[in-house]
Amino acid sequence: MFELTNRVAIVTGSGSAKGIGRTIALTLARQGAKVVVADINLDGVQETVNAIKEAGGEAFGVELNVTSWESVHAMVEQVVRSLGRIDILVNNAGISQKVTVEDMTLEDITRIFNVNMFGLFLCTQAVLETMKKQKYGRIVNLSSVSAKRGGGVFGGAHYSASKAAVLGFSKNLAREVAQDGITVNSVAPGLVNTDIWKSLDRVTADSVIASIPMGRPGETEEIASAIAFLASAEASYITGEEIDINGGSHM
Ligand code: NAD
Repeated sequence: MFELTNRVAIVTGSGSAKGIGRTIALTLARQGAKVVVADINLDGVQETVNAIKEAGGEAFGVELNVTSWESVHAMVEQVVRSLGRIDILVNNAGISQKVTVEDMTLEDITRIFNVNMFGLFLCTQAVLETMKKQKYGRIVNLSSVSAKRGGGVFGGAHYSASKAAVLGFSKNLAREVAQDGITVNSVAPGLVNTDIWKSLDRVTADSVIASIPMGRPGETEEIASAIAFLASAEASYITGEEIDINGGSHM
């Protein structure tokens, strides 16, 4: 795949056992990156760090709450102090909720936006100074197919709106930092074979499958490989772009 030897990569939300973030962290580590596993779930962080080390990679665990300015800045300072640089930031931490607009509370809307958009905003802002000094950086943001065609069975309109905001944010920032050696791109996964997918009842799962031309959900590895490419030096002339990874469910 793509060479990431000695690159320092932060992957937020990489503590979930069956989640996309853990596979991203493992994939970047396999390509040679020193991976900072950052998540609000400290047990999950430790499990991901152990999995990377067992596979022969380098990993460092950090407890992180992406919605807290203090937590985000403490992490970035710790990474720069101990590893000297930050080459890659993958903003993967995200939450969802299935609820109609009519039934949504202000607390619901705020919680979803706080993690999916403001958290991503804070983490990105915090690494820019270091990436600018290096004249090198790769920022990859997790959006969703829901941003483009609505949330379906998994998320409400607040989720879709937060993921659409990620796309606009990424393009704006891509322009701002294009001459600093920093690229900013997004990936928009369709349904992925994670815990949430496994929790669906048979009838719902069948109806979802019927809407996907490839007839199956995506695998976490299929998201992680695209992210590894965007995080690599080889993707040097790609910025402000979004890659749809959805088995054809949105073209
Ligand atoms: P997941 O729930 O398995 O993992 C999300 C991780 O984020 C968890 O480990 C959780 O602890 C962490 N997290 C939550 N709040 C946090 C906070 N405040 N600070 C730090 N970490 C926090 O989710 P997933 O299904 O692997 O999704 C990963 C990303 O991909 C999300 O951004 C999601 O919106 C996006 N996505 C997922 C799918 C899918 O089908 N699973 C589809 C499209 C997009």
